[in-house]
Amino acid sequence: MVTRDEVARALEKVRLPTSGQTLTASGRLSDILVNGDKVMVSIGIDPTEAAAMEPVRAAAQSAISGIPGVGQALVALTADRPAERGQRPPPSTQPHVAPGRPSQPPTPKAATLPGVKHVIAVASGKGGVGKSTTAANLALALAADGRKVGILDADIYGPSMPKLFGLSGKPRVVQGRTLAPLEGYGVKVMSIGFMVEEETPMVWRGPMVMSAITQMLREVAWGELDVLVVDMPPGTGDAQLTMAQATPLAGAVIVSTPQDLALIDARRGVAMFRKTEVPILGIVENMSYFIAPDTGNRYDIFGHGGARREAERLKVPFLGEVPLDMKLRERSDSGQPIVATEPDSPHTLVYRDIARQVWASLTGTGDVTIKPPPSIVIE
Ligand code: ADP
Repeated sequence: MVTRDEVARALEKVRLPTSGQTLTASGRLSDILVNGDKVMVSIGIDPTEAAAMEPVRAAAQSAISGIPGVGQALVALTADRPAERGQRPPPSTQPHVAPGRPSQPPTPKAATLPGVKHVIAVASGKGGVGKSTTAANLALALAADGRKVGILDADIYGPSMPKLFGLSGKPRVVQGRTLAPLEGYGVKVMSIGFMVEEETPMVWRGPMVMSAITQMLREVAWGELDVLVVDMPPGTGDAQLTMAQATPLAGAVIVSTPQDLALIDARRGVAMFRKTEVPILGIVENMSYFIAPDTGNRYDIFGHGGARREAERLKVPFLGEVPLDMKLRERSDSGQPIVATEPDSPHTLVYRDIARQVWASLTGTGDVTIKPPPSIVIE
């Protein structure tokens, strides 16, 4: 069993570029969390230092990974402190849809999909925050409520739906160019991952991206669906913007971790969808906190509540908090998504609650009303 002292000693070898101090002595480390062979720690920074501190983060991660007995090391940069001092950028002045249910669907820019009632995007400002995990479990939670659901893996740079749903094989051609989606746990699934070998590095140029997405959207026999969940590629660049515009989206769910740096990216995500006049269905805080399975102690390893505060600030609904959980990761990575395989787990209940809010927001008729964030303005 790895000890926290061993981790602290390993981090003594990592020095800050500016002061030359060791990371351990710098006072910037959060609690070191050791759980079995996994080690998690975060480094407090000022948001302006993000680029300069990335090599320190990487060095810390490799120093911890080098300790005998460590299976997985997770080191994150967090910027909670300066943000609390009020250094966040001013709120967006972009027009936005009032919190709660979008009263009017946006003017459709992309042609609607015949037979598909609502297309929603699950997006994140950057990779690795759990966007795909959220998209898969949200789709399954909607299906658990009796909806007909499909999921389109538009994360062409890192398609994860084949793994998340434990699906492989090539989609069948049903007619002309039209492909039949695969099916996992009652959800129809289409992913570029079904079309290319997993190990093949994919180099996409802009037009190829669009044609791949258009094909997966329009040349797939989705049939009658209540909701098609689109797992967007991470980020807020031109490719994502174009994709958001090319998809007939009824709304978008933004996934973020509670860290300030992730929240800055999430804010960009919200701004991107506002630019395309797609209603924000809400923000999900993933890896919100961690309950140690052996002691039951709770650790707010990446800070906690950041996404809720951000949602309030941006005046978009806050949909829920999904804790960091090893089992959730193991289930996801082994093709047994938690909502489908552990219907009573606390995580499943969180996803089902999120799904009900999303459905209520889409239809305006659900039995759950999105709680609008309190309209408190702090000058
Ligand atoms: P993204 O789509 O944002 O790149 P993924 O959904 O692929 O992120 O998640 C990245 C990794 O983090 C995966 O290994 C996934 O299993 C894991 N993960 C996601 N959410 C959680 C969570 N709440 N607890 C533990 N692991 C998680």
